[in-house]
Amino acid sequence: MNIGIDIGIGADADADADAGTDSDIAIVGGGAAAVGLLDALAAEQDGTSAGSGTLTVFEPSPQLWRGRPYGPDLDSVLVNAPPAMMSIRNGDFGHYAAWLGERGADHIDVLLGQPLVPRALYGEYLVHTAEKAIAALGEQGWSVRVVVARVTGIVRRGARLVLRTHDAHEYGATQVALCTGGGAPPDLYGLTGNPGFTADPYPLADTLASVPAGDDVAVIGSGLTAVDVAVSLAARGHRGRITLLSRSGVLPRVWQRPVDRRPRQLTVERVSALREARGNVTLDDLVGLLRTELADAGEDFDALMAELLHIEAISPVQRLRRQIAAVDDPRIGRRVLQETAHTVGPHVWRLLPESDRVRLRRHLRTATSVASPMIPANAATLLRLLEAGQLTVAGGVQAIEPVHGGFRVRDEDGAHTAGTVVNAVNPQPQAISAAAEELVRSLADSGLATLHPSGGLNPADQHLHIVGDLTGGASFITSSIAGLAAQASRTAQALRAP
Ligand SMILES: Cc1cc2nc3c(=O)[nH]c(=O)nc-3n(C[C@H](O)[C@H](O)[C@H](O)COP(=O)(O)OP(=O)(O)OC[C@H]3O[C@@H](n4cnc5c(N)ncnc54)[C@H](O)[C@@H]3O)c2cc1C
Repeated sequence: MNIGIDIGIGADADADADAGTDSDIAIVGGGAAAVGLLDALAAEQDGTSAGSGTLTVFEPSPQLWRGRPYGPDLDSVLVNAPPAMMSIRNGDFGHYAAWLGERGADHIDVLLGQPLVPRALYGEYLVHTAEKAIAALGEQGWSVRVVVARVTGIVRRGARLVLRTHDAHEYGATQVALCTGGGAPPDLYGLTGNPGFTADPYPLADTLASVPAGDDVAVIGSGLTAVDVAVSLAARGHRGRITLLSRSGVLPRVWQRPVDRRPRQLTVERVSALREARGNVTLDDLVGLLRTELADAGEDFDALMAELLHIEAISPVQRLRRQIAAVDDPRIGRRVLQETAHTVGPHVWRLLPESDRVRLRRHLRTATSVASPMIPANAATLLRLLEAGQLTVAGGVQAIEPVHGGFRVRDEDGAHTAGTVVNAVNPQPQAISAAAEELVRSLADSGLATLHPSGGLNPADQHLHIVGDLTGGASFITSSIAGLAAQASRTAQALRAP
């Protein structure tokens, strides 16, 4: 890579724990969160830049800037949100759309009327954005380098934090941002090691390649990853039966066409103002803001809640048909909830009293399906597979066991067999990835951070920051690009602070 500044790619043989300038920032993890942070740091604010010094990004995988989801994969593995929600630049809803430009025309989701590109192509946007940010930071006087290494520990040594990598090198920093992402799907049925079982489905280009086209495939989970698996099997011409197995047997909702209206009441600014005026924020306050938001648009809050919370005993086919028919529904209610779950949600979650968080957690399934709906193109494929009888969505899964080179599944419909089982269980939002486990232990041991009781980490040192799913006590909804961009922007401000 030659972008005219000092970027060292590769493990640095010279320990530099004691070297350094006034502002040495280390970013641990080089995925979407890190890209959002670099972009926000590079942006000059009020005519001033973030200062200067060294900026070191640690990323052990070959998928620099793409993280877990946006590396090379099948073309059927698509981004899961329209362009305005995929901008990694906080507050600039057109940033990604502008990069995509005319290429978007080849990827229009007909029902949504928006381009939804393969995730690998979105990864190119992240790479481009990171490289532009690094170039801009270079022009501002920053020396930026990428170290291909896993960080295994951080300790404080005097005024500096010292990062240790898996290959026993040490690097000094004045501030550290952890951007290590979330966990992998948990193996709930202890199937790892059995032939025919895929513990982690991505990249699907690799994991589905060995699935015989006539095999009966059981997919554990019925969320967005399960949808990716079913749609990609169909795209590969799979002929065997596909069963999505979960406790609920409920598929995600379907995206609605974006409207040109952003929330005006349920915003971070309004929530912050309430907090400043009264010292706290409650769920009833949020309901109040949403009621006003909807009333301004001539809509009724109670009607929206009744629609969301009342799950009718109808078949997955009927439910999916209704959802697809509602793509064009002009009402803003679900759209506001969908967007604010990712933008306002992470900010407000920690401000709420625990009793309100408990109330919200009771609606985890509904909240997740509203916050992270599936794209209409995938919904249409699922509907086609369901109508053809090739796909089944089964609830009440009780057991999945290896038997005679295959698997026996017991669910609410009784027992059946599968030749292949693909694990598409959603990890807990604050699950810790295997790559970050050692680091997290070290931070807890050294007292630089504390483990949060409901998962993730809380910094205990003002020079340690977290962006993304490692954030302790964050909401139960997994980070989206929009949420990461907002968090990265706030973290960049904290890093700029003297
Ligand atoms: C399959 C999938 C699809 C998704 N699709 C969408 C979507 O379409 N739209 C949307 O808005 N959101 C989506 N999301 C949610 C969100 O956008 C992604 O999770 C996003 O990639 C998170 O970025 P991140 O940088 O926090 O984590 P990651 O992308 O996981 O990147 C973290 C990086 O940190 C590195 N790392 C970990 N530990 C260490 C260590 N100890 N030292 C150094 N480096 C380390 C890892 O190698 C990794 O590259 C998706 C999530 C998943 C899992």
